Amino acid sequence: MSTMPLPLEDTLVSYPGGVLTERAVVLSTAAAADRSFLIIDRTCAHPVDPRWPDQGPDRGTVTIDGRQVELIDCVIGASDGSGLYVGSEVPVRRGEPGWAFVVVHAIPRDTLLPSEGDEVVVTIDPAHRAALSAGHTGCHVAAVALNLVLAGRWRKPVGTDGLGHPDFDQLAIVSSRITPYGAVDTYRIGRSLRKKGFDVEGLDVSLPGIAAEANAQLARWVATGARVDLEISGPRLTDLREWVCVLPAGTQRIACGGTHLQSLAEVESITVDLTGDVAAGELVMTTTVRRV
Ligand SMILES: [Zn+2]
Repeated sequence: MSTMPLPLEDTLVSYPGGVLTERAVVLSTAAAADRSFLIIDRTCAHPVDPRWPDQGPDRGTVTIDGRQVELIDCVIGASDGSGLYVGSEVPVRRGEPGWAFVVVHAIPRDTLLPSEGDEVVVTIDPAHRAALSAGHTGCHVAAVALNLVLAGRWRKPVGTDGLGHPDFDQLAIVSSRITPYGAVDTYRIGRSLRKKGFDVEGLDVSLPGIAAEANAQLARWVATGARVDLEISGPRLTDLREWVCVLPAGTQRIACGGTHLQSLAEVESITVDLTGDVAAGELVMTTTVRRV
């Protein structure tokens, strides 16, 4: 925690709409041991969310008084007006009364810091953003395919996805990591999931066949060039955003804080590989997206 006073306003964010450069007003700065923090009124830089760190921070620069410095990290922070908590230090959930959630831009420690009210310009590396957007869209589409190909293994009714299949992804996911043009999702298929009705009989030897089925389905969906939308309920960091993909068999919606493609026409293919130690209760889906 740093002890600078902060205005109690959530950061306005434009990265969900695909923005790559933004002029902003400095609200506050702080110096940490090995870096400095910059809080501005608005940003196009995607921050990593410590509570669900699926998509990492954007890369880019911040131009301060005509000098361009590297954005070395970008993370969600929060303030109650008396101090700034960064990343995993944040002690409250979003929506906590009296707290503002902000995008914290980390810049090199030796940067001459701007004053409150100064203007700065944030510029994002477009190639890295595009790679993560493709990976994140691929990740969500792959999850819908995984739900579909595992649907026959459910012996009891559970919550379903937008296509009407048991939502294995939501029920079993432990962690998700978006990579450039890909993703790695880890699922827990232990006793709790089996009690909910998921049948793991023979799953380990079936993984290659299940992945092949998912890949055939993904190829059909990619061929439709389905539109991808990020529905945005408001301009603030804390406003709900939903990833929406209209597939032939139904519309999938997933609450999502990341960045995305605009349609599946932007990719050549989305494929998955399924691995993991089923006996130990672990399944890993590795998604690969190929560009057009
Ligand atoms: Zn997402």
